[in-house]
Amino acid sequence: MDQDVAREETTEGINEWKKRPPYRIHEDNEKFPVKYEASCHCGKVKYQLSRQEPLDSKLCHCTTCQKQHAAPFQWAAIFHKEDINFTHGHHNLEWYDPTEKSVDHKLPCKVRCSYCHSPIMDEGRNMILLFPSLIDLQTDEDKAFFKPRCHMFYGQRVMDIPDGLPKWDGLSNESNLIEDSPPDMVKDFERKREAERNQRFEKGMNQ
Ligand SMILES: [Zn+2]
Ligand SMILES: [Zn+2]
Repeated sequence: MDQDVAREETTEGINEWKKRPPYRIHEDNEKFPVKYEASCHCGKVKYQLSRQEPLDSKLCHCTTCQKQHAAPFQWAAIFHKEDINFTHGHHNLEWYDPTEKSVDHKLPCKVRCSYCHSPIMDEGRNMILLFPSLIDLQTDEDKAFFKPRCHMFYGQRVMDIPDGLPKWDGLSNESNLIEDSPPDMVKDFERKREAERNQRFEKGMNQ
């Protein structure tokens, strides 16, 4: 086989992901009703969404999310892969597969901006879990659509959030529900802990 042809085929294979959702760029003449605009922190990656209400919105307390997001928990909204249209920088993405700890594009994986490293989404086999902090939610109605509906992997939490939402020990709808601590009890507990901490500081026992 001609060497150039062979090389082209290989390149095509490597770049195949660009032609498939969620990375497929929509043509101007295609119908893509834009409901939201979103961008990473540095602005090199920008995308649009065509669906007004996410399929679901969740807070995940698992230790992988804690490490990957450097946060006590992670907020994700679920969309179909066809609901997103990258308008900028979709070639400047980097992947991370937390299962195999590899940076190959292997699903499910984490997707980040390769410049500012803002987490963009978790790409699953069938769905995408977008991080709504990147989306420009302008009205109270928009914000309400994205409000979290449950907590998952709550058993791995670093803090109590007595907000009345369902709290799953592991995956939502596939694990046991954890009873919400009564808000007054959490408040009393935290105040007591803070008072004890202040006492320790006063006594110089805080080294
Ligand atoms: Zn960026
Ligand atoms: Zn998680």
